[in-house]
Amino acid sequence: MLIDSHAHLEMPEFRKDLSEVLQRAKDSGVEYIFTVGTERKDWRRALEIAQSHPSVYAILGVHPHNAKEIDEKTYPVLKELCKHERVRAYGEIGLDFFRDHSPRDVQLKRFREQVGLAKELKLPIVVHDREAHREALEILKSEKAGENRGIIHCFSGDEKMAKACMDMGFFISIPGSLTYKDAGPFHEIVKRLPLEFLLVETDAPFLTPVPFRGKRNEPSYVKYTAEKLAEIKGVAFEKVAEVTTQNALKVFRLNLG
Ligand SMILES: [Zn+2]
Ligand SMILES: [Zn+2]
Repeated sequence: MLIDSHAHLEMPEFRKDLSEVLQRAKDSGVEYIFTVGTERKDWRRALEIAQSHPSVYAILGVHPHNAKEIDEKTYPVLKELCKHERVRAYGEIGLDFFRDHSPRDVQLKRFREQVGLAKELKLPIVVHDREAHREALEILKSEKAGENRGIIHCFSGDEKMAKACMDMGFFISIPGSLTYKDAGPFHEIVKRLPLEFLLVETDAPFLTPVPFRGKRNEPSYVKYTAEKLAEIKGVAFEKVAEVTTQNALKVFRLNLG
């Protein structure tokens, strides 16, 4: 059994064939998928998918790309939706200084606010951090985000950053880019991280792993990332599947036994 800890099933890329996508996930051993609604227009759809499919749970929040769109209506709407039991975490929130779709000062302010909101809602926090490691860590630490635990999704930091996050109680989620030809330096970091803190994710429809790189990503492909992780860590695939699944159930506080 595998869990795809981060996908975007509510995005238009899945509008036509969602049921086939979910069936293929099941056939590949992916029992649960966490779909992340990143902006207001996507939240209800993400929650609807989670409500109508037992294998899907939702994560809701405002992505750093959309930080500039937050207005006085945003948080009240989010707060209501997040009370639903199919919503298992708050996110993805954080900083993206690579694309800079929202001004950096706005991203910083909204990230800090949303950590506060997640704490108020008592939800684990899913963090998006791209080329803003130092600033992201500073906010997570000063806002005591670790009390809620959470996930650094699509992890792209170094070993020191990973350690600081794990010390706070955060899990590290490994994306399909682990399978890419140029991922050597990332392999070296991942090799030294304890499996007990790792999750796997697709971030579908993005970041498609080899051998499907270039095509749309989907949750069934998370197995390629798990296979690569097993190879890098020199353990059996079944071990990676079992431990990453337990980690996901732990962080999302699900007792499915
Ligand atoms: Zn992200
Ligand atoms: Zn994402």
